[in-house]
Amino acid sequence: MMYQLTEDQELLLQTVNEFGAQRLAPTVLQRDAANEFDESLVKELLDLGLQGICFPEEYGGAGASYVDYILALRDICKYDDGIGITYSASVSLGASPIDVFGTPEQKEKYLRPVAEGKTLAAFALTEPNAGTDAASQLTVAEKVGDEYIINGSKMFITNAGPADVYVIFAMTDKSQGTKGISAFIIEKGMPGFTFGPEEHKMGIHTSITRELIFKDLHVPAANLLGQEGKGFKIAMHTLDGGRIGVAAQATGIAQAALQHAVEYTKQREQFGRAIAKFQHTQFKLAEMATKVEAANLMLLNAANDKAAGRPYTVSAAMAKMFCSDVAMEVATDAVQLFGGYGYSEDYPVARLFRNAKITQIYEGTNEVQKMVVSGAVLR
Ligand SMILES: Cc1cc2nc3c(=O)[nH]c(=O)nc-3n(C[C@H](O)[C@H](O)[C@H](O)COP(=O)(O)OP(=O)(O)OC[C@H]3O[C@@H](n4cnc5c(N)ncnc54)[C@H](O)[C@@H]3O)c2cc1C
Repeated sequence: MMYQLTEDQELLLQTVNEFGAQRLAPTVLQRDAANEFDESLVKELLDLGLQGICFPEEYGGAGASYVDYILALRDICKYDDGIGITYSASVSLGASPIDVFGTPEQKEKYLRPVAEGKTLAAFALTEPNAGTDAASQLTVAEKVGDEYIINGSKMFITNAGPADVYVIFAMTDKSQGTKGISAFIIEKGMPGFTFGPEEHKMGIHTSITRELIFKDLHVPAANLLGQEGKGFKIAMHTLDGGRIGVAAQATGIAQAALQHAVEYTKQREQFGRAIAKFQHTQFKLAEMATKVEAANLMLLNAANDKAAGRPYTVSAAMAKMFCSDVAMEVATDAVQLFGGYGYSEDYPVARLFRNAKITQIYEGTNEVQKMVVSGAVLR
């Protein structure tokens, strides 16, 4: 492995892997089958201090490197990427825009509880008719005195319900297009803010996804994040980081699929010998392992760019696209190597196959990542 972990990173991953192996892995199939978002397991994860890794000590974080956070996330996702994406949506999407764009008062009030692991955060940009075309927001925020009154809805929001802190986007000036979008921090429990029913998803069943509904939601002007009209910039900046989180999820899924395939093919016998003895199986495992290694390098390349303060929009888009495609390919190969058992939900790889698919879709579909990369290539 090209990337040399520091002693602290080794220790962090030891903790994360122990937690994953002991607390997540034994029940993941049951929780997945039951569509169960397990609040107590999420709380255990938060109690490990993982949400604060890369936030400043001044606001309850550990002030460590962004790379440490990505490594921890990747390894959580090897055991249960539904819980992993709960963690990632909270840190990368919900809390990080407050860290980057928030006032000291906003950070104290909203970043600290997340960094200290007391609650989850969420990020709400997508609307029923504004997905890839995120600029066509229909949610509106009207300034009245020292408040904004928000009306509209948000679709497919990870952590909706369990999270206490939400960064949301709304039009403050329709005539300005993307420059008329603003970001706000809202709290669960504010009158006029409710949730739709849980989405019935193909995968990541151990995470929670709901609609947010705003009906005459009164938000203090002090909860405007950044300046009026800067919301789209805040959203795009946040998604650049979020994409590295999705790449970490995808790499974790791919690693898990490879690991299961290796173990299974060594013990499954056909024609009087382990199927791992067939050269076709060996070559398939070699291809899978090579892709996983490459995904890890793409992931760490993007994470290192962000940690070092270098531009990372393009490396993050490349990593998201590459790692998610690898997750889908490696999980598909793992299902094939398991044969009929790969198609059974009683075995681990069917879940990985279903979960891999979402990594190609959210936080900008892979087509969006190609727009970002081709835009940079042709500049
Ligand atoms: C489980 C889950 C969790 C999610 N969590 C969150 C969250 O926490 N917060 C949040 O804000 N959103 C969240 N999302 C929303 C997610 O980011 C969007 O679903 C995604 O961005 C795609 O938008 P869409 O579903 O409207 O698809 P559409 O935009 O309708 O896209 C449909 C297809 O058309 C393609 N397409 C669209 N435009 C173009 C174009 N110009 N050129 C080529 N192809 C194009 C897309 O690539 C895609 O293949 C989540 C979604 C899911 C399913």
